[in-house]
Amino acid sequence: MNPLLVAEQVGTPCYVYDLGTITDAHADLTKSLPHPSTLYYSLKANPHPRIVAALAELGCHAEISSKGEIDSAVEAGVPGEHMLLTGPGKAEETIDYALGHGIRHFSVDSPVDLDRVGERAFSYGVEVECLLRVNADSAMTGGSGLTMTGTASQFGADAAWILEEPQRFKAHGIATVTGLHLYMGSNLLDEDTLVSQFGIAIDLVVRLSEQLEHLREVDLGGGFGAPYAKTGSRPQFPNLAARVEEMLDDRLKGWRTGEPRISFESGRYLVAESGVLVCEVLDAKRSKDELFVVLDTGVNHLGGMSGLRRIPRSGPSVIPASGIPHEPEDAVQTSVVGPLCTPLDTLGHDMAMPPMATGDLVTVPNVGAYGLTASLLAFLGHRAPMEVVTRGNEVLVVSQLQVKRSDLDPDRFFDPLSTQGV
Ligand SMILES: *Cc1c(COP(=O)(O)O)cnc(C)c1O
Repeated sequence: MNPLLVAEQVGTPCYVYDLGTITDAHADLTKSLPHPSTLYYSLKANPHPRIVAALAELGCHAEISSKGEIDSAVEAGVPGEHMLLTGPGKAEETIDYALGHGIRHFSVDSPVDLDRVGERAFSYGVEVECLLRVNADSAMTGGSGLTMTGTASQFGADAAWILEEPQRFKAHGIATVTGLHLYMGSNLLDEDTLVSQFGIAIDLVVRLSEQLEHLREVDLGGGFGAPYAKTGSRPQFPNLAARVEEMLDDRLKGWRTGEPRISFESGRYLVAESGVLVCEVLDAKRSKDELFVVLDTGVNHLGGMSGLRRIPRSGPSVIPASGIPHEPEDAVQTSVVGPLCTPLDTLGHDMAMPPMATGDLVTVPNVGAYGLTASLLAFLGHRAPMEVVTRGNEVLVVSQLQVKRSDLDPDRFFDPLSTQGV
């Protein structure tokens, strides 16, 4: 379905996702991974239940970190036994919610985290299996994007710490560490970098496995890159599966029969290209020497990790609906901004853009991952964009997030006397 036709029906701004693109990306990724292996879909990238359901039907398990993500996975029909709860700070409330939804699989980041999961599991009366998230002691070389391991990190426990005090990382009551979790980086675009990352991970698993009584699962992480808010397409990793299989055959014999089970995680690779944000030019005007184009969407809807400057430095690709491939000589230096009352609401400064006029529709490509739910949705109270999930020419669902404040009964939290006022 052409996103512009969808926008004509539901209005702008709107995110349009195509499930066919997700099916293709999933096929590309699974053929790049060792066989057999399990693939977790990281709901952080896009928790839309229809997207999660599509990936679950394709065989993905779910990697989740919050009650909201558990709700999305449940709505998508993912069974609790296919969910892995991860994150460096798990509140008791979140663990309880997970246990209540049949989740028995946790990634733990420290002895405190393991103890907390163990205590909650004990009061719930169920056995749980934990992956121990490890922070490698050497930084990954040659990487791009966000490095989340090898340096001081809030994620996982340092390998050196685990080797020094292995007894603290084995079990807490009925929560047993039965695997290792090595998510090392994000948005890695080339095969060599991925291979060297998985090589470091497998070496580390071999070193740490001596400390573990059971090694049932090795989650090698992922970090498979994809374009974000820029034109382009997902990279291909034609020899990745064979190269990683060779390392596994060499160093983790038994993996082919699931001893240990090998798993991977991906968010952006699976969904980035499926999504387009369609918006409208509300105004185009000059100030001093600069041309400003004001859109009906900005960092509130495309925050790029909550506006934490993860939008491409050079600005996103903003493509006028006219689709007229503009001649470079027609390009106008333009600052593309959103409707919020802050100069931070800038998608890009001084970008070479085709001429745009009030009322034009424009699209931002490749925002199926880290789009709407990674944004500053509530800031300034603009309504949320529509979300439309399509497959081919079929519209499957139109939905809209509601950010709504509800008054809760103070008596739920306070002794009634203290809320009577003085
Ligand atoms: C964010 C995250 C992912 C997903 O990362 P992508 O770059 O979207 O594939 C996977 N695992 C963990 C632990 C994460 O924090």
